[in-house]
Amino acid sequence: MSTTSPGKVTRIENAIVWTGRQIPGTADYAVTDAIAFVGDRVLALGQAARSMAADHVIDAEGGFICHAFGDGHVHSIFGGLEQQFAPVRGHGDPQGIARAVGEWARAHPEVPWIRGEGFDHTLAPSGIFHAAWLDAEVPDRPVVLRATDYHTVWVNSAALRLTGYERGVTQPHDGEIVCDEMGDPTGTLREWGAWRPVYDLMPEVPLEMRMAAIEHAARSFASSGLAWVQDAWVERADVNTWIEASTRGLLTFRADLALWADPNSWRDQLAGFSEDRARVAAHGSPALSANTIKFFADGVIESGTGALLEPYCDCPHSKGMPNWDTAELALAVTAIDALGFNAHIHAIGDGAARMALDGIESAIIANGPRDRRPVIVHLQLVDDADLPRFAALGVVANFEPYWAKFDSWQTELTAPRLGELRTSRQYLMKTLVDSGATVSFGSDWPVTTYAPLAGIQVAVNRRMSADPVDEPWLPGERVSVEQALAAYTSGVGWQTAQQDEGMLRPGGRADVVWLAKDPRAVDPMAIDEIAILGTWSSGVRVHGG
Ligand SMILES: [Zn+2]
Repeated sequence: MSTTSPGKVTRIENAIVWTGRQIPGTADYAVTDAIAFVGDRVLALGQAARSMAADHVIDAEGGFICHAFGDGHVHSIFGGLEQQFAPVRGHGDPQGIARAVGEWARAHPEVPWIRGEGFDHTLAPSGIFHAAWLDAEVPDRPVVLRATDYHTVWVNSAALRLTGYERGVTQPHDGEIVCDEMGDPTGTLREWGAWRPVYDLMPEVPLEMRMAAIEHAARSFASSGLAWVQDAWVERADVNTWIEASTRGLLTFRADLALWADPNSWRDQLAGFSEDRARVAAHGSPALSANTIKFFADGVIESGTGALLEPYCDCPHSKGMPNWDTAELALAVTAIDALGFNAHIHAIGDGAARMALDGIESAIIANGPRDRRPVIVHLQLVDDADLPRFAALGVVANFEPYWAKFDSWQTELTAPRLGELRTSRQYLMKTLVDSGATVSFGSDWPVTTYAPLAGIQVAVNRRMSADPVDEPWLPGERVSVEQALAAYTSGVGWQTAQQDEGMLRPGGRADVVWLAKDPRAVDPMAIDEIAILGTWSSGVRVHGG
């Protein structure tokens, strides 16, 4: 990271500067050719920038400059920690995962609990992974692996024993301990209620590992053009982790922390939320805020825990597993809204989306108008009747665009559960953009890649490869490159509740990314190959150069 002295003016010229500001009355965005910034602020654009004295001039060689990207929903610490656990990602079958875990465990005899994050939960029939497969490799120490969906956990028998999960175990109301015909736990645990007791037994991750995780996240974000993130799941203990990272100067990006609301104890959490927000503010770093509360309205469709309005096709008596009662969620959202927090609600199924919209609507009615920025995230299914409510209520629709392709998650786990009709109306990004709602994008990393260019590529193509057999999935829901850029810049900027955030304008924040090529001009299937030549975060160059 190179530092910029406060008084020095940087100018980038010979560039296509995409400001992100829509020209009123048109679908076009204002473009110019140069930008100048000083400290953390943009000084001038175009001719005004070109004609002013600069201490440092960069020739962009015809490259593309826009506001640095934001990630509207990411898990920075989880993503960074994953690199330090057993490597469970990228294997082709459960045995491959088990072997990798065994090897790692033998190489780390001192580690009491073997952890892994991000295994592919589509690899076992019906998503049921057996403890015995892990026992063959690690019989003596507990193994706890979390799937890439972050809702499914696979454990070995040692972990089941320590947790007291045995034949006839009582099922939690907010999770499923998957059992076989004999009533024995298989080793697969779905949702919070089932795996929380296991996680509660594990020793805390050492501070230095958490710092290394944030360092890893910071490097990853900078190299992909990200300067702001909504960290979407922060528990109390990790508020200190973030403050410590900031004190150590590790934050080359700005982050807002979404404090996790527990459906079982949110009333008791309220005072703590306000304390944590105040503690973060008192720390005084412009890189850190804690203005958001995270709710999980439901689980995920792949595990049958996404909350649907109509039953699952493969399980006709089930509409999924909402984590909240509708009235209780409305009370909780109203309570945190009254404290001035923004709600950030995970909603996968159409039932969850409705419950989240209802909750936000209740808060608006109860607390009256104010500048609130509620966000509903993921939005895999939204009922037609609910689509106009995003614009009407001022709710940000946050999508993870990288998911909008017909991959193995869809063919193996989603389509059989949703049936044809619902399968063909997922991730309605263009419909929501056209409805006038603010649409923002995110990655949900480490669920999927943090790279915004990869997300943009899928958003504009809705397919995985350039192979003509791989046809776009729901082509009518493709967005334009500019709409995708806007979702990653001004869309995410709207979530921050700061005026005009996410657009390049004089006086605006000098968060800038320099791409080697104009993503509007390249082959749309090659957008994610564009090199990122520079990232500036609040005027400081954090990547390239
Ligand atoms: Zn998430």
